[in-house]
Amino acid sequence: MLNSDRVVIVVRPFGMIFRIVVFAVLLLTSSLVVVLAADTSILRGVLQVDSKMDTEGSTSLVLLDATGRRTTLYGDLFVEAQLRDRRLIERQWELEGSFASDGRFEIYKLFTVKDGQRYRVTYYCEICHIYTHEPGRCMCCQEETELREVPES
Ligand SMILES: [Zn+2]
Repeated sequence: MLNSDRVVIVVRPFGMIFRIVVFAVLLLTSSLVVVLAADTSILRGVLQVDSKMDTEGSTSLVLLDATGRRTTLYGDLFVEAQLRDRRLIERQWELEGSFASDGRFEIYKLFTVKDGQRYRVTYYCEICHIYTHEPGRCMCCQEETELREVPES
């Protein structure tokens, strides 16, 4: 009898602490999501092309905006492969992402822009009828894929 009373006394405050912790976690994660969304910026410009610009990925990608400001870019494998696609070297880009603490810009989404319309960069295999996000051979039949810029709908 005495023992179960003690258990109740011990459990109750823990239950309260647990609820407070859950509430705090919910509060933190929801505010984090808001911060992330508010942090997303859009950069527009062209890639700075120099003789060292390569498709291997050993030089950094740099965006040159209309005011002449240069921003070093980075992103996942697909993002980098699309930006380094030589067929797209003259394109105007619109990049969604956020600035890292070192001043570089991390790209989440990228679009080419033609006549004010945003296009997604895709690579299409006519044999398999599949789209991929990376230039090169089809992952399925190994034939060369075709670059297609698809209007964002
Ligand atoms: Zn294929």
